[in-house]
Amino acid sequence: MPIDATLPYDDQNIFAKILRGEIPSTKLYEDEWAYAFPDINPQAELHVLVIPKGAYVSWDDFSAKASDEEIAGFIRAVGKVAREHNLVEPGYRLLANIGAHGGQEVPHLHVHLFGGQFLGPMIA
Ligand code: ADP
Repeated sequence: MPIDATLPYDDQNIFAKILRGEIPSTKLYEDEWAYAFPDINPQAELHVLVIPKGAYVSWDDFSAKASDEEIAGFIRAVGKVAREHNLVEPGYRLLANIGAHGGQEVPHLHVHLFGGQFLGPMIA
């Protein structure tokens, strides 16, 4: 069920539990600012979720409240994940769903990274 991205952060959300190690995930990348793991229901050959370590509901929350250091660290981490998977050439796609109209289901900011295949004009 899509979330209301204006609600306060809920530290019982599934990605918060993944960050705390309470729910298992396969670590693909981790640094001070970000953690990356495979999506459990992949929509492409490669489908990785990259999440900030800070408690942010959505891209909106993050862009409004995170420090410049956190924002830079997170964006750099997303780029590193893509480079580590050799995706820069032939390319890849980033997607962040925000709130109800965006179809966001998990109330912790996550960037979907799709790659490993030609993706076509859009993945809904
Ligand atoms: P949507 O489900 O509409 O894509 P989101 O943008 O909120 O909405 O994406 C949540 C993503 O989290 C989904 O792609 C889903 O497959 C993934 N997911 C849910 N639970 C887990 C989990 N335990 N481990 C990895 N990925 C998960």
